[in-house]
Amino acid sequence: MIAHRMIPLTILGDDAFAQRIVDAHGDPLCGASIRTVQINIGLRCNLACRHCHVESSPKRTEEMDWPTMELVLESIRSSGASTLDITGGAPEMNPNFRRLVRAARSSGIHVIVRTNLTIMLEDGHLDEPEFAAEHGLHLIASLPCYLKKNVDRQRGLHVFDESIEVIRHLNRVGYGSGDALPLDLVFNPQGPSLPPPQEQLEADYRAVLRRDFDIEFRHLIAITNLPIGRFQHDLDRDGRGERYLQLLRDSFNPATVDGLMCRHQLHVGHDGTLYDCDFNYAIKLPSRGADHGPPLHVRDFDPAAWRRRRIETGMHCFGCTAGSGSSCGGAIIGNGVELAVSTTAPKPNSEDPA
Ligand code: SF4
Ligand code: SF4
Repeated sequence: MIAHRMIPLTILGDDAFAQRIVDAHGDPLCGASIRTVQINIGLRCNLACRHCHVESSPKRTEEMDWPTMELVLESIRSSGASTLDITGGAPEMNPNFRRLVRAARSSGIHVIVRTNLTIMLEDGHLDEPEFAAEHGLHLIASLPCYLKKNVDRQRGLHVFDESIEVIRHLNRVGYGSGDALPLDLVFNPQGPSLPPPQEQLEADYRAVLRRDFDIEFRHLIAITNLPIGRFQHDLDRDGRGERYLQLLRDSFNPATVDGLMCRHQLHVGHDGTLYDCDFNYAIKLPSRGADHGPPLHVRDFDPAAWRRRRIETGMHCFGCTAGSGSSCGGAIIGNGVELAVSTTAPKPNSEDPA
């Protein structure tokens, strides 16, 4: 079941993706469940990667404040979601990051932190690995290739070496291949192509990283680059934008639609505005809820209405339905990584420095 027939098809306008969904399934794309609350707690980052879809950098100042974080925690309680997925920017740079983590973990919420690794070598963040291990955080770390030259070209000079150094540190405090302290790595293609099969790529990553650096991780998550943000600017500069979009359109796979992450989550932007996903946040396409009204704020969050809302879509959405599909857990079909799991809460720790 994809959607609710109450939604008039006329609101689809000239959204070719929305039309493709209707052609394939007979209904527009709507919410289904709320397993995860994903939040973007700020756009500041110590890096400024070429492919960054939210266009983060050290100069960005937008960040989520504590009252908004409290509303987020309330939305998790009211929706029954099992997982809080924290992203940025570099989420560790938000001054309330640790306070949020402690509050969530002490409530038994599974917490994912999407980290760029290199932040853990910056002043004030050297103990992030110990903090993460102590609170049982699930780390998802960017490492877009196992080759230094590719990582440095996409993310900046020395980023590969720094990332390896931090993974070694994480391995020392217990992160690695197990489920107790999971460390998952994220691959995304260097250019305008679809990711290769995730399972084979994971095996290649594991073999090379083990052989050359003696480091361990759990799963590889392969994510398709969506045609937005800096990645799209790059393609447009080289005249490759339209060809990439055509590739995504031609690779539309209707079997991915049930598993699209927007159907199973709530996304809260740094100012509390609700979105269907981080990509829609990046392009400032807020959710308009079940009635397609004005943009919604987390203070007005209604779980029942959210589950039946119409999802806001655009051409960029073809990136999620191409080939094996793409989500924050990687491929949708085949070997995607299940991220929305529940764990037992660790002992609250009031001694950590904020
Ligand atoms: S891709 Fe990640 S690490 Fe790179 S600038 Fe964007 S938020 Fe920062
Ligand atoms: S870009 Fe967002 S809204 Fe569009 S299909 Fe992907 S997850 Fe859903």
